[in-house]
Amino acid sequence: MKAIQVVSPLNIKICEMEKPEIKNDQEVLVKVKAAGICGSDMHIYHGTSPVATYPRIIGHEVVGVVEEIREGVSKVKLGDHVIIDPVINCGQCYACKSGRQNVCNSLKVRGVHEDGGYREYMVVPESSLHILSKDLSWEEAVMIEPFTIAAQVCSRGNIKKEDTVFIMGAGPVGQSILQVAKKIKAKCIISDLIESRLEKAKVLGADRTINVGTENVKDIIMKETNNEGVPVVIDAVCTTKSFEDAFNYVASAGRIVVLGLNKKPSQIAQMHIMVKELDVRGSRLHNNKFPQVTAWFNNREIVAKDMISHVFHFTDIHKAIELIEDKNIENQKVILKFYE
Ligand SMILES: [Zn+2]
Ligand SMILES: [Zn+2]
Repeated sequence: MKAIQVVSPLNIKICEMEKPEIKNDQEVLVKVKAAGICGSDMHIYHGTSPVATYPRIIGHEVVGVVEEIREGVSKVKLGDHVIIDPVINCGQCYACKSGRQNVCNSLKVRGVHEDGGYREYMVVPESSLHILSKDLSWEEAVMIEPFTIAAQVCSRGNIKKEDTVFIMGAGPVGQSILQVAKKIKAKCIISDLIESRLEKAKVLGADRTINVGTENVKDIIMKETNNEGVPVVIDAVCTTKSFEDAFNYVASAGRIVVLGLNKKPSQIAQMHIMVKELDVRGSRLHNNKFPQVTAWFNNREIVAKDMISHVFHFTDIHKAIELIEDKNIENQKVILKFYE
């Protein structure tokens, strides 16, 4: 079978490798049909991921069809359409025992710490699979994984319908957080530098958009909240500065949700956290969000196909990367398909 491997940073190739085999009764052979390209895949490609090792078959947003099972499998059957949960945890450490397996002490993510889904076949335990409606296109089903990230962010932000939420950044991540926050019926303010993203955010239900390049963010936030600031700020920009800025917009007793893998320190005075008694909360991957998010997609409560801008056959991976890296093209989600 063919696979896409990042041999070392900036060196990505299509390679020939052995088709994986089922080794125990709880495992399932999945024929991969589509996989999304995520910002973190690009970090691994560029050598800027603090967690990845090489060589690596990347890809953690993966859907496919069940092609082979053994007698130990009861949840899925042959021909089922499935999405693969990339998170692998130990079940024994403090985080796992506290029900927080997404931050397991020996966490592994398929496509990051071990080989992922940019290949024609994968073998995974059935516990990592979630069944898709056959009405969903492969490409749209890929979007379930990014929405598990969004669902996690909203649960870490403890967003309630009475809350006003400020989402910094209206790219694909910000847009999916917006859709989940609107599902909770919170009031949503979202910012970006790119006007087309803000237009898109309006269509997705944003109550107020802010163009950071032309408007005064703090003035608008204060005006929209009776000078209180917002109960929840979500930093989906993830720069040292955006994290610092978040403290200017948050209300007393509020929450700041952090998504960045930025290693550079931001300057935050202890006083800002103490005086407002803020919760500054990280949000990593997702904690058991696949059942809920898969149901949203299967029931058409969330429709994400408009967020997909380009689909490439997986053998055109170099063209896909070129497109993503072209600053003149405002792309949304780029997806690789593994069928003709
Ligand atoms: Zn991702
Ligand atoms: Zn663990």
